[in-house]
Amino acid sequence: MNQLADRLSKISEPQTIKMSKLGRELKAQGIDVIDLSIGEPDFDTPAYIREAAKKAIDDGYTHYTPVAGYLDVRQAVVHKLKRDNGLTYTPEQIVVSTGAKQCLANVVLSVVNPGDDVLIPTPYWVSYSEQVILAEGNPVFIPGTLENNYKITPEQLEAAITPKSKLFMFSSPCNPSGAVYSKEELAGLAAVFAKHPQIYIISDEIYEYINYEGKHESIAQFGDLINRTIVINGLSKGFAMTGWRLGYLAAPLHIAKACDNIQSQFTSATCSITQRAAITALMGDLTTVDEMVAEFKKRRAFVNKALNEIPGLKVNNPEGAFYMLPDVSVYFNKSYEDIHIKNADDLSMYLLNKAHVSVVTGSAFEQHECIRLSYANSMEKLEKGIERIKTWLAKLQ
Ligand code: PMP
Repeated sequence: MNQLADRLSKISEPQTIKMSKLGRELKAQGIDVIDLSIGEPDFDTPAYIREAAKKAIDDGYTHYTPVAGYLDVRQAVVHKLKRDNGLTYTPEQIVVSTGAKQCLANVVLSVVNPGDDVLIPTPYWVSYSEQVILAEGNPVFIPGTLENNYKITPEQLEAAITPKSKLFMFSSPCNPSGAVYSKEELAGLAAVFAKHPQIYIISDEIYEYINYEGKHESIAQFGDLINRTIVINGLSKGFAMTGWRLGYLAAPLHIAKACDNIQSQFTSATCSITQRAAITALMGDLTTVDEMVAEFKKRRAFVNKALNEIPGLKVNNPEGAFYMLPDVSVYFNKSYEDIHIKNADDLSMYLLNKAHVSVVTGSAFEQHECIRLSYANSMEKLEKGIERIKTWLAKLQ
């Protein structure tokens, strides 16, 4: 008996997760694999946040919580959104979930009807399209280009909108390109949305703090967009808390209520202990976050320089997050022994199996000429990993 639901045939396993799994399998065979595929800080969660979690256990925070999260956690989110983003919300507009990933799923399931179009600028984070497909919507891609540092223009947005467009989803800072939209660029997109009041906007700001150039800006600040923008954020990236599983969304009340309703049927709420620690993270100062970001910045400079020294790569200069998305198409249609590289999928498998470095194929993000490397790894591993990539790319003839 193998009768799975049809929806399973329409989605694929995230390439990010697949590459990490393949890398682990090689490691288990004793091979020294350098993992540049994974999207998580290599730092430990700051000690003061870990202490808050230990205290929460001892204080008895071990029961079910309200679906949307404890009131004081939601109040801490409201405080953070005011402090960092100048956005005004009430706790009823906040839903805390098991990671930003679940926030995204809650919103997609809340607003997308079968047949609705969802506009997604490329490159985009792997799960966006798959969540839309699970909701029986149609992902419609708006292509970002290396020339425009992988950002879309207001003209492109305007041209992509049709009466079927229901939702627009994007991340800034962006996974996988690292692109950050400036206030002016967001204002340009906002002016287009002002003409199309039927479109909801998901603004995924999970990499907010990992921004090397300017101040983070949210599209929710423009005009009346706060009434149809869902801001998504969480603790995973900025506070190095991927395993703790806490994301949050801030939304118009009717969307927040819908997300609460959906979440109540799937996971109830995220972990009580994580929620208590989140208050400490959200209310505290950002010194340890800034220290981690300073370290990422050094690595970005190194990786950018090292990749630029590899013949033929076209390298973007990301302003945020911790990824590089070089165009590797110069190596397509080349071979090493009996291995022929047709595309970025083949190249990422070649780098895994030969160079023993795991990266992610750009096809996972609709950027077919690229591969994604994460520099959330030690300088030593980055140096070794990029040297190996250079050596094995040089063998392709
Ligand atoms: N959005 C983006 C753009 C991401 O890169 C990630 C994690 N890789 C998430 C959302 C989900 O984060 P989490 O569920 O860990 O909060």
